[in-house]
Amino acid sequence: MSEIDRMLAANEQWAARFPGSKPVRPARKVAVVACMDSRMPLFGLLGLDVGDAHVIRNAGGVITEDVIRSLTVSQHLLGTREILLVHHTECGLQATDDRTFADRVEKATGRRPFWSVQAFTDVDDDVRTSIKQIQDCPYLISHKVRGTVYDVETGRLREVV
Ligand SMILES: [Zn+2]
Repeated sequence: MSEIDRMLAANEQWAARFPGSKPVRPARKVAVVACMDSRMPLFGLLGLDVGDAHVIRNAGGVITEDVIRSLTVSQHLLGTREILLVHHTECGLQATDDRTFADRVEKATGRRPFWSVQAFTDVDDDVRTSIKQIQDCPYLISHKVRGTVYDVETGRLREVV
């Protein structure tokens, strides 16, 4: 059985205990931007329930053009007004740098990405950069943003101030 078959089977159990539909607008008016890391079950670690929040994820939880697009939709169409950033310890993006990663992709595929992977070394600096990008974003209604680092060893969130 492939992993996808296992997930489709698991969905049968999910649907059997499905609590019912919720409004499209997030109940807690919050959007979370986080790394895609598999060790961060965001709804559980943030005490969120179905229908509470938008969760926007990518490698590193970096503020890309598409994250801005999603946050803009989240605020203008769906009423969110606060943004939480969740980066974490031992991120895969700390294990490379932009040039090394581009070299690797080019070597394997013959194509060099036109985009930057946005690798980083200091996770706190990376969070501060993301906070600044949100604060400077001209398309948002609310610039209420706070940033955190999740410790994958302890399960604790630490706010970056
Ligand atoms: Zn990560």
